[in-house]
Amino acid sequence: PELVAAALAALRDVADFPRPGIRFKDITPLLGDAALFARLTRAMAKPFEAMAISHVAGIESRGFILGAPVAQHLDAGFIPLRKPGKLPHRTRRVEYALEYGTDALEAHADACGEGGSVLLVDDVLATGGTAAAAVELLEGLGATVVGCSFLLAIDALGGAGRLPGRRFETVLHV
Ligand code: 5GP
Repeated sequence: PELVAAALAALRDVADFPRPGIRFKDITPLLGDAALFARLTRAMAKPFEAMAISHVAGIESRGFILGAPVAQHLDAGFIPLRKPGKLPHRTRRVEYALEYGTDALEAHADACGEGGSVLLVDDVLATGGTAAAAVELLEGLGATVVGCSFLLAIDALGGAGRLPGRRFETVLHV
């Protein structure tokens, strides 16, 4: 509770970013505070400590910043899920709908074996479209997505509804 209050106090709302009418939750003040950063990534890992997680998959790019320490807390490997054209080796891609147009995520086809137990990590769960696409991509690699861990959920946007039946945890809610 004290961690949640400190983190929510540090979170910054930025009006009209990246487009007019969007109120963006800026997590950089939380990353810039050594104690908060460490405690928050530990809190993201904690619910999954008893599970045998082989890999943490982080979504570019704030999911990399949070996912790497979560992976180390869980003694797991790290899988980067990237924007198209960034990964050098053979990839798999998933496309997903945005408010305007589509976007895509890619992973290396050999990022984890069939038996992989993967935890998905990202900074913010908003509409859930990105997380749902990431789950689809990982399952297409043969992995089992055993859960999702977010720093922050914007509850009014209903992202939980895009992860039906899936274990997910969020440290902060707004
Ligand atoms: P969704 O697909 O759930 O609508 O959007 C989630 C994705 O967009 C995440 O990868 C997240 O990084 C980014 N995102 C959407 N809204 C925000 C926001 O207000 N703050 C931050 N930091 N990221 C956001």
